[in-house]
Amino acid sequence: MIKVEQLSFAYPGSSTKAVDNVSFEIEKGRIFGFLGPSGAGKSTVQNIMIGLLPLQDGKVVYDGKPLRQLGKSFFNRIGVSFEHPNIYEKLTGLENLHYYAGLFSVGERLAPELVLDMVGLGDARNKRAGQYSKGMKQRLVFARAIMHRPDILFLDEPLSGLDPTTGQRIKEIILREKERGATIFLTTHNMLLADEVCDTVAFINDGKIIAKDSPRNLKLQFGTRAVKVEHRQDERLTTETLFLDRDEDRQQFNRLLSTGHVETMHSQEATLEQIFIKLTGRGLS
Ligand code: ADP
Ligand code: MG
Repeated sequence: MIKVEQLSFAYPGSSTKAVDNVSFEIEKGRIFGFLGPSGAGKSTVQNIMIGLLPLQDGKVVYDGKPLRQLGKSFFNRIGVSFEHPNIYEKLTGLENLHYYAGLFSVGERLAPELVLDMVGLGDARNKRAGQYSKGMKQRLVFARAIMHRPDILFLDEPLSGLDPTTGQRIKEIILREKERGATIFLTTHNMLLADEVCDTVAFINDGKIIAKDSPRNLKLQFGTRAVKVEHRQDERLTTETLFLDRDEDRQQFNRLLSTGHVETMHSQEATLEQIFIKLTGRGLS
């Protein structure tokens, strides 16, 4: 279990807090999503959690132990995928992973060749990483993050720069990592990704958490229980929004269904993006 308590952080020289009194918990084996627009403070929180930025105010606790007291072995247990890929550009993709593997003293580990295949970089493994596209570099750091089968994964915008097919592939690996038992801290402004994979989502805006719940609960809490129905009769297309809490609307819904003239229907629960806009007045991208 990971516990973050009342975390605040200001970059040197800045008068505003990049992170402002942020608290949350992540249970073992769960995916916790940090969702918010660019500049909200997501990467800053991740970097404090992995000890890359100093802890100024608040607590970060792993299985009851404060971050400060965790020794080197902690870094064998975590896998980190950074937003801005930090790789050795002069080495090939494969050499990057071999080099990195040498830094860890862990038992079980995936073969570098295998992880590269998993993320779709098999064919590019002998190419210099400096020649990789942004999306390829992103996948290389992702491969590096999962290679040593860490207990905790920190994934900062893992789908950024990826085309939909490759993004899907990475999403599936994230879900498999969860099945394996990894606890995952996922940072993203991609609300579809957050919706699909996260057990809990925290919305972050201007350094503050403004809502936190399962995607399903958030959507139920902020959405309307309604169905938008398009039906066609005598060549004329009509659209109606029917509220499921109203008797007459439910009867109308049944009537429409029984006529067989319905062309489309969409339930009107809110998307995470709409909820975010409702709460903050701004979008995610
Ligand atoms: P996110 O990951 O949600 O896009 P960040 O954590 O990167 O947000 O940034 C949060 C805030 O801190 C932003 O206002 C950003 O401009 C500022 N910031 C980020 N990195 C630095 C830095 N190295 N020095 C000063 N300010 C920074
Ligand atoms: Mg970021």
